[in-house]
Formats: sequence, C-alpha cells, structure tokens
Amino acid sequence: MIQFDNSYARLPEGFFTRTAPTPVRDARLVALNRPLAERLGLDADWLAGPEGLQMLAGNALPDGAEPIAQAYAGHQFGGFSPQLGDGRAVLLGEIVAPDGIRFDIQLKGAGPTPFSRRGDGRAWLGPVLREYLVSEFMAAFGIPTTRALAAVSTGEQVIREQLLPGAVLTRVASSHIRVGTFEFYAARGDLDRLRLLAQHVMARHYPDAKTPAQLLQAVVDAQAATIAGWMGLGFIHGVMNTDNMSVSGETIDYGPCAFMDGYKPAQVFSSIDAGGRYAWNEQPNIAVWNLAQLASCLVPLMGNDDAAVAEATRIVHSFPEIYKAEGHRRFAAKLGISTPRPEDQALIDRLLDLMAAGRADFTRVFAGLSDGTARDEFTDRDGYDLWARDWQARIQGLADAPAVMARANPRRIPRNHRIEQAIAAARDDGDFTLFHRLDAALRDPFTDRAEWDDLAQAPLADEIVQRTFCGT
Ligand code: AMP
Ligand code: MG
Ligand code: MG
Repeated sequence: MIQFDNSYARLPEGFFTRTAPTPVRDARLVALNRPLAERLGLDADWLAGPEGLQMLAGNALPDGAEPIAQAYAGHQFGGFSPQLGDGRAVLLGEIVAPDGIRFDIQLKGAGPTPFSRRGDGRAWLGPVLREYLVSEFMAAFGIPTTRALAAVSTGEQVIREQLLPGAVLTRVASSHIRVGTFEFYAARGDLDRLRLLAQHVMARHYPDAKTPAQLLQAVVDAQAATIAGWMGLGFIHGVMNTDNMSVSGETIDYGPCAFMDGYKPAQVFSSIDAGGRYAWNEQPNIAVWNLAQLASCLVPLMGNDDAAVAEATRIVHSFPEIYKAEGHRRFAAKLGISTPRPEDQALIDRLLDLMAAGRADFTRVFAGLSDGTARDEFTDRDGYDLWARDWQARIQGLADAPAVMARANPRRIPRNHRIEQAIAAARDDGDFTLFHRLDAALRDPFTDRAEWDDLAQAPLADEIVQRTFCGT
C-alpha cells in the first residue's frame, strides 16, 4: 500500500540502529491529516482504516518499511552531548510523493530504542496534539516545517510527574537530519561517514551544492529564511539545541514552543530556559551559534586548514546579512509593502517599539492594520496615530498593499491558552472538540470567519500562559 524508498537505511553501518516500534495496547485514531496524505500520494482511507491505524500506532509494519533509529549528537543549551539519537522516534522509511519530493515517515513516541537512555520512548497526548496543531499551522502559513500526518492514542499511560495518556505522532519531514547528526561523526573524527552524510544531504536537499562550503551556505540561507518566518509570527521555538535544528531548514521539534501574545522582544516561555538563551529576539543569534557548530564539523571536509576555517567563518558570518534582508522583507510585507526600501526599517522599528511599550498583542496589531482595529491594541494611541499617519503616507498608492498584508498577517495563530485548553479537554474528558476546531481554523489562517472569532482573541488575564514545558 505504501511505496517506500529508504535512502537513509541504505547508508552504511553506523548511521542508525535497526529497531522496530513497540506495539501499543489500544490504538485509536485521534486525527488523520487527509490533505497531507493526499499531498504525499498516500491513500487516506486506507490510513484511516484498520491496517493504517495499526501502522500509525507502530503495531504493524507495512511492506517496505525498514524501521530505524537515527544516531545524532548535539549541543543542548551550549553543552555538548556526544550521544543523543532517536530515543523515542522510529523512522519507518521514506516515500517519494507524486511531485518527486522525498519525505521521511516517522513515528514519534513509538517506544524505546537503543538511544533511549533512561527515557521510556513514549510521548503523552499533550505534546502530540501541540505539535500536530502548531506544525500544521506553520505549514499552512508557509513556514518550512515538519508536518503531522496522524495522531493516535495508545490506550496506555505514560509516567511523567503524573500518569498521562500516551500517544504517537506520525511526523513527516523532508528529512530528520540535524546539525547534531553532523556533530555525531565530527566528534568521533569519523571523516568517512561525515563525507557520506554531506553527500547524502547535498543530493537530497541541495542538489545545486557540490562542495561542503556550498552545503554550509545552503543551510545558512535556508535557516535564515525559516527563522525570519518565525520572527514574523512571534514564534518562539524554545529549545534551539543543535539536535533540534534541521539541515533542510524545516522547523523541527515543537517541545516547549509558543507564540507571543503581548509583544515583548525578550519573551521566553520554556521553563528550562531560565537564562533566556532561546528568547524570541535571540533566535537569529542562536542560529548563528548553531551554524558555527555545523561549520566546525565541515571544516575537516573543506581542507582542514586556515583557508578552510576562513571560508567557513565567512559563510557563517553571512547569516546576519541574509537574515536581515529576509526579516526586512517579511516585516515590510506585514505593513503592506511588497518592495521595501532600506528606510522602511525605521517604520517597522517604530511600530515594534510602540508595541513593546504597551505589550500590544503581536498578532492582533498586524491583523488589525487591515481593518482599522490595530489602534485598539495600543495604550499610547497618540503615538500610534503619529506612526499610522507616516505608514499611510508610505503605502499610499500601493495597489497590492491589502493583498500583501492579508498574506503576511494571520488572523489566527495557535494561541498558547487555546492549545492548553484543547489538551486539558482531551486529557481529562477525552473531548477533542476544541482540538478539531483549532485544527480546522489554523489550516486557514488568512480569512476572517465569525465562527472562529473566539480563536482570534487574545487571552483574558487569567488565561495567559506564562510557562511552557518540554512535557515530552
Ligand atoms: P528533545 O529535548 O525532545 O529534543 O530530546 C532530546 C533527546 O532526548 C533526544 O535524543 C530524544 O530522543 C530523547 N528523548 C526525549 N524524550 C524521550 C523519552 N520519553 N524517551 C526516550 N528518549 C527521549
Ligand atoms: Mg529533539
Ligand atoms: Mg522534544
């Protein structure tokens, strides 16, 4: 039923361990992403049926699957862990979609693997629902991201601080190769595998790149675009460790992620990020730090001499310029300007400063520029009016401004409080109504719909989420 073509499993020994998912007691389909199934050329009715469900739960392996856990290392909060790897995810295999694009099909929460260390290899329902909703919103908005094909409840409980219902997420990605995958081989001085990995990634993601330097530049470019996308949504990844940075440029690992409500540049949500390393406004800097780790891995393939170091350094240092251009373009589009000029940055910065001063709601300000309601979000209305006069003058005569703004500013985002309400209802009452409403509403972030007005509101004071947890 599924045509697999498992290029990673064809790599030589040392890149992964063959390991099967562990069956679960009572698999039930929580959500199947039919539009994604169609995009991948998979039969959604089969996936929703008994055989599909057993595959999505890890209870049965479809023909052609070659389940593996991938090895990787990573810098976590700046400290190096030489041995991480898929501790609770099993890659079933790869498929090639009708348009020729290759995708990994991975079960997250599929049981222990040789990389699990002390973990149980499982996930609980909460983070599975969060990743499903947020990654699909990102995809709908056009940010490169892993996708969610399905969520299945397991009928088993997982032990965290309390007993919680277990679940498995079927994650789809153009690959699960991370900066930390390169670090795994570089740290071991395994140049042969490092070279093979670089060749695999170039062939798979960056066919125009022919050298490790070009590969590094391609990853820099891809990450700069993705992170500019995050910034334009007020998205905070929360745990930008190098093992959570995909070399494809896709957003991956939605653990403690969150979107800002009120705008605060140094916003942090994650309970384990006390130092603010992964704050909203640090994300472009941390990307440079992570890419410098990738560069260090690639230097041995670039000649391993002073010239190689200089070239790798130059490429990493190209990030800020590329990011700045991407961010400028994104934020200018949020103001309706499709062809920005350098001086537009002052207009952008003035608005952001006004927003920060009153902690205006990030999403509602930008969405409200289209319908005149942005002003309501400010405490300093005179300040806003002064800004708005200059903004109006700038977009005067730009015929495409309304359409540009409509595409750049979502009406709805996955609000933290709504996600937590959806998770609580599913966990406590087995009620997935809000989850499904959010799923539908976030797949269509651009249109105003009265039935979803409540999902476009900022949280009430007692609904505001202050902290998020890895939750695993
Ligand atoms: P993360 O913080 O989700 O990026 O995960 C970091 C590492 O911990 C990865 O190697 C994961 O596979 C592993 N890990 C996270 N949760 C579990 C779990 N419940 N069981 C086993 N390994 C886990
Ligand atoms: Mg991770
Ligand atoms: Mg995680």
